[in-house]
Amino acid sequence: MKVKIRKGDTVEIISGKLDDKGKRGEVIKVIPDKSRVVVSGINIRTKHQKAVQTQGRTLNPGRIKFEGPIAISNVMLVCPKCSETTRVAIQRDEAGSHRVCKQCHALID
Ligand SMILES: [Zn+2]
Repeated sequence: MKVKIRKGDTVEIISGKLDDKGKRGEVIKVIPDKSRVVVSGINIRTKHQKAVQTQGRTLNPGRIKFEGPIAISNVMLVCPKCSETTRVAIQRDEAGSHRVCKQCHALID
């Protein structure tokens, strides 16, 4: 399956964890090998870090918040033109392939 979601796209969470469902965020990372994406502000996890000694410095213990990856199938692209969640069509021309919104037919790239 070709990944049609790219870094910088806005996506809406359509399934998965209840707290995140319906939220929108910007794609900050695409992991094509695992069919996963990392979306800004979605699937926030907290990592507890113990105090560690590195090179003579002590890093403070604490909680680090970070976004965990989610399955691409749980997100849907939001068209930047019509703000609707949409599937995209691929249109090809001399310049290459472009994504087209199936709702408003705007060129997304
Ligand atoms: Zn559109």
